[in-house]
Amino acid sequence: MYISAKADRREFPQVDVNVDFVVAGGGLSGVCAAIAAAREGLRVALVQDRPVLGGNASSEVRLWALGATSHLGNNNRWAREGGVMGEILELNLYRNRQGNPVIFDMLLLDLVSQEKNIRLFLNTALMTVESSAAHIQAAAGFNSINETHYRFTAPLFCDATGDGLLGFLAGAAFRVGAEEREEFDEGMAPQENFGHMLGHSIYFYTRHTPEPVDFVAPAFALADITAIPRYKRLTSHLNGCDLWWLEWGGRLDTVHDSEKIKWELWKIVWGVWNYIKNSGEFPEARNMTLDWVGLIPGKRESRRFIGDYMLQQKDIIEQRDHYDAVSFGGWSIDLHPADGVYSKLDACLQFHSKGIYTIPFRTLYSRDIDNLFIAGRIISASHVAFGSTRVMCTSGQNGHVIGQAAALCAKRGWTPRQLAQPGHVQLLQNRLMENGGYIPRRALTSLPPATITASSTWHLAELPPNGAFQALDDRCALLLPLRAGERLPVLTLTLAAAKAQELAVTLMASKLPFNHTPEAILGERLLHCLDGEHRYTVDFGYRAPHDCYVFLALAQNSAIRIALSDAEPVAIKTVLNRVNPKVAKHSRQTVDGDYGVDEFDFWLPQRRPQQSVPSIAFSPPLRAYAPEAAIDGFMRPSDHTHAWVPDREDPAPELILQLTAPTRLAEIGVMFDNDFDHAMETAQWGHNERVSPNCVKAYTLWVNGRCIATVEDNTRSWRKHRVALAEPIAEVRLRIQGTHGGIPGVFALHCIAAD
Ligand SMILES: Cc1cc2nc3c(=O)[nH]c(=O)nc-3n(C[C@H](O)[C@H](O)[C@H](O)COP(=O)(O)OP(=O)(O)OC[C@H]3O[C@@H](n4cnc5c(N)ncnc54)[C@H](O)[C@@H]3O)c2cc1C
Repeated sequence: MYISAKADRREFPQVDVNVDFVVAGGGLSGVCAAIAAAREGLRVALVQDRPVLGGNASSEVRLWALGATSHLGNNNRWAREGGVMGEILELNLYRNRQGNPVIFDMLLLDLVSQEKNIRLFLNTALMTVESSAAHIQAAAGFNSINETHYRFTAPLFCDATGDGLLGFLAGAAFRVGAEEREEFDEGMAPQENFGHMLGHSIYFYTRHTPEPVDFVAPAFALADITAIPRYKRLTSHLNGCDLWWLEWGGRLDTVHDSEKIKWELWKIVWGVWNYIKNSGEFPEARNMTLDWVGLIPGKRESRRFIGDYMLQQKDIIEQRDHYDAVSFGGWSIDLHPADGVYSKLDACLQFHSKGIYTIPFRTLYSRDIDNLFIAGRIISASHVAFGSTRVMCTSGQNGHVIGQAAALCAKRGWTPRQLAQPGHVQLLQNRLMENGGYIPRRALTSLPPATITASSTWHLAELPPNGAFQALDDRCALLLPLRAGERLPVLTLTLAAAKAQELAVTLMASKLPFNHTPEAILGERLLHCLDGEHRYTVDFGYRAPHDCYVFLALAQNSAIRIALSDAEPVAIKTVLNRVNPKVAKHSRQTVDGDYGVDEFDFWLPQRRPQQSVPSIAFSPPLRAYAPEAAIDGFMRPSDHTHAWVPDREDPAPELILQLTAPTRLAEIGVMFDNDFDHAMETAQWGHNERVSPNCVKAYTLWVNGRCIATVEDNTRSWRKHRVALAEPIAEVRLRIQGTHGGIPGVFALHCIAAD
């Protein structure tokens, strides 16, 4: 037994933690920053005020993490995030393809706890900052569960708290609310009824029950459902993220009025459920109950901090390039009316750009505090640009950049601003790509000179028929890669028509070679289809001026069927001119105002198992998959496949890399195809398979004739292996022993030289 005598006063214990890098906030941006820094050798403190990691993606809020793949609803091909964020998505798909948010919590805790360099402080709310002369010395917080005060000191800090607590207390400049249209010439800058900020939301999950369940609403529930102008959209089967538009608070102070907003959202949620259960409109809801209601409101917007650059609408819509591009986004600019669920306006105004845009490093640190990185939804972006950058996979990827940048700053003794200088930032760009990151339109430039050969290469002469046919119910197109100067081969398709008729075939391409929005018509042909099944040959005589994808588009005609193939060619896709109602209203983006955005058609791939390719023959074969692609510095399809693919009959596919001068290597990185088009939504969605069929499952890696890695159960696109040998390396071999069912594709075999 322990008895304490009366005391005049008592104090809780105080623990001092000194590390290289403090990450405040454990949402996806904070988690990715902490992991990336720890893997580069920094001692990291990750401080999170809640019992789990993940922020809005955790089981506390239950949002599915989204990013540039945009539910596969726009023209951003092969746009899934890379680096640590990509790793989290792939791991979650493998371990949790049903999208259980509780499993996602566990996965993040598992990943972080495996990093020996991370000290994780859960349930610890940072509350004070010690700073002087525009520099943070320490941040302190309290854990109410173990009654302990913590004080964290480090040379570098990252604010990933969502509201920007560190930046706020340290005195960094920030903005709240929408900018005027004139400031950045932003056509989407909202008018009074669409500003001022995006509000909070609270979600609920429903469950079917074997017996009827009665429901008595709390006294605070919304009594009159017609107060919600869009209430007719409510149905009994909507769950979680489906009801993102139960949103409110955009006109309030979303930091200090957060509790008030939460109560209004509880009122709305319980009122909605009362309507579903007790209005009589949804008889099927008798055998339903609520499984879970959010206790913490999901916050969309509050402060945005100012860096050395503010991202703005034109950066996104015009896809401007920046010398310090380190990351990318591709979610639409997605703004909501300030009155949220009580607004009569559409629940969102969403415009996509024609392809992914880059994010400059100068948006990821504070202009005013010399050792403060800013991550997540508080990065330096206008309200309009924030409408796109705020989504969690983009935030997580930016977090990875910050972790990597912190390591370089620590190593070189630089501030983030010094790292951003034109002569320095390439170090960061290369290091990101050496760790599986992706920067659009930019190649890794640190590869030692080498030549590469392969046991075989798939010369794409034919996607053989499988006997099945599919009606041309939509306009559809096959995305085909061409090398600069390559002539599009003569193409042969098999069509079955109910009666003799004509079919229009169009060849199209994007104006920007890295985009996949077909705007330019390169040629048109009319096929005179006969009654029955026949082969048809098309020759456009088109020669590509630069590497690019072309769209071989067939008109919509349900009376004609096209022969299909079972081949799942790497980085060659069928796309349909369709709408995905999750992210757009029509199959074409149309603009009904002066918003400063573009009109264009959406051409969307289908998710497996719906994805199919036509049977087609190429004469001469398409030059799609040369081994040199594995060392060209581009690590995924963009303006070409950037993939090596062995011949389909090759019994022992192998890449053989000869270094021009024997070189000491630190690491070897390999990028496999794991379908960068797959959005891999983290929660609620449910996916068809745990790994993409083309992903390499088993392989060995050899240097100077010695095997340094044997992997039998790979499920990921990016794998990196340390080279423990001190001797200079002259030769590297990658031997592929199996895939998850498809043809293997290798985007990169990268040698990373020792310092
Ligand atoms: C309702 C809603 C729907 C949305 N829909 C989507 C969607 O479908 N997909 C998508 O990707 N994005 C969506 N977003 C946007 C996205 O969720 C946020 O922009 C994103 O979470 C921002 O990431 P973050 O890391 O900055 O913040 P958060 O995810 O909020 O993480 C910040 C973390 O910091 C912690 N923290 C805060 N203060 C402190 C402190 N003082 N000390 C320690 N820790 C602290 C918080 O607990 C939190 O865990 C939506 C947002 C909302 C609210």
